[in-house]
Amino acid sequence: MTKRIQLFILATGLAWTLLASTLSAQEFEPGFIDPYPILQAASAAIGEERLSCVSISGNAYTGMVGQQRLNGYEVDWPRGEPLSNYTRIIDWQNVRMLETFDREPGNNPAGWKYGLGWLGGTPVQQETRQEFMLNNSYAWHKDGANGTPFAASHLDAERWQLDMWLTPHGFLKAARLPGANPRATWRWELGEMGRDGATVKPEKVTIVTIDLLGKYRVDATVNSQNLLQRIHTWVPDPVLGDTNYEHEFANNDYIDIGNGIRFPTIWHHHTGWDDNYQAQSTNAGHNAFGGNQSTIQANVCPGDLPVPNEVLNGEIADTLEVSELADGVYLFGGSSHNSVVVEFADYIAVVEAPLNERHNLMVIDEIVARIPDKPIRFLVNTHQHHDHIGGLRTYMHIGATIITHWKNYDFYTKDVLNYAQRTLDPDLVSLLPPTELAEGYQYETVRENYVLTDGDRIMQISYVHPLNHVEGMLAAYLPQERLLIEADLFDGPSGFHTDPTTAEPNQANRSLYNHVQRLGLDVDTIVPIHGRPVAWDEFAELVN
Ligand SMILES: [Zn+2]
Ligand SMILES: [Zn+2]
Repeated sequence: MTKRIQLFILATGLAWTLLASTLSAQEFEPGFIDPYPILQAASAAIGEERLSCVSISGNAYTGMVGQQRLNGYEVDWPRGEPLSNYTRIIDWQNVRMLETFDREPGNNPAGWKYGLGWLGGTPVQQETRQEFMLNNSYAWHKDGANGTPFAASHLDAERWQLDMWLTPHGFLKAARLPGANPRATWRWELGEMGRDGATVKPEKVTIVTIDLLGKYRVDATVNSQNLLQRIHTWVPDPVLGDTNYEHEFANNDYIDIGNGIRFPTIWHHHTGWDDNYQAQSTNAGHNAFGGNQSTIQANVCPGDLPVPNEVLNGEIADTLEVSELADGVYLFGGSSHNSVVVEFADYIAVVEAPLNERHNLMVIDEIVARIPDKPIRFLVNTHQHHDHIGGLRTYMHIGATIITHWKNYDFYTKDVLNYAQRTLDPDLVSLLPPTELAEGYQYETVRENYVLTDGDRIMQISYVHPLNHVEGMLAAYLPQERLLIEADLFDGPSGFHTDPTTAEPNQANRSLYNHVQRLGLDVDTIVPIHGRPVAWDEFAELVN
């Protein structure tokens, strides 16, 4: 690490002219031009070399990526609780960043900053004050200023570091890092230029591309005023694969903060394509972070940010705890999300493929170890929130048929269960695509009711409505065992949406209660996807 930092300091000390290529035009590949004059002009326009750290403060909104309510037919992610007293302090030279803000507790996992990462791997946020730290390859958060440090996953740590470099000054500094290998091209842009700024005339822009952290390709669009208007890359996501990730800045967002330094007051971020007309994808959610951070201080650094011991030890390992709920019915818990495994005479059905591929392969390996000679024939999916579908592709890879509500079908076939290459964190379907991804018996789409049975055991799957949690929700009922398997309508103890011991009944709880009454189900035990099973009577007492 020290070596890399030294190289960086050495490199940042060099003027762009010294780095500039002496190649003549015909030595570039067709369509490409010399990146160094572009970088040099962009650096001069914002006083890049005079800014080594920055502190920005204000407020921000957040988008809950992957938590859309209506099936991907909306044009944007639902908004999370607003962030107030927001401050971000960046130190590019030492690769450190500190973000702090206040947010109403109780609405999301504490480890969620904004955008991607709403995966529920951590307990629900308890304190108003939230702190997120990055020091090179280590990242962690604290729920409350005195909270215990909680290590972020290595993918989160990389993404938070990308956030540092996807700033105008950060990009230009990253272009000097060893291995950045800048190259440039150009295009005429018409209409929307980066940030919703309608233009009448086409404007010629240049695009500089660099390599970062050994695997990310990052590009910046530089306009005729030499300002970076869009900085863009792709990040890995278990549901969407290589996902569009970009920060955009309009010309008049840039303010003068003295000493020839200009910095944008608005940070506007997209996770997913800004594709309101859904021409390219069913799910057009994109605005995931933004706001006005107009208090900007040059060369204020975040301090040393020493990595706590809890974080040096690495991220919390994913674990499995298996318990038998009834003969041949198993709860695969131990994590933020459960799966329920049900053995039929000739096959196995699994309810829910949450989180990511790694987690689901752990579940599948354990099923195969316990019941080696029956195929896993069906995967029952409760709903399309991304924290509940990160393993759909894994089950498709092993040949299971996915049972889901019909309203999820377009989104899954088009955006999730597709052949698109996943380069940043490839999964099995992407590495080893089957010859037919959807031509076989790959889906069962349920409208109202669907039954799996071998003549003895019965699983009755039903559409839960009306509901405010999400559209396209299924629940699974085992009448002989009197078990009801459901997601997010009610959490058991240590679940993450609500704490059942203190919670007031919410609308989702009432939806579940009414659903069971309407269908006349005789439930003994609720088996939630979050938290431990709960007696129906206890639940009924809460709701009534
Ligand atoms: Zn949900
Ligand atoms: Zn959930």
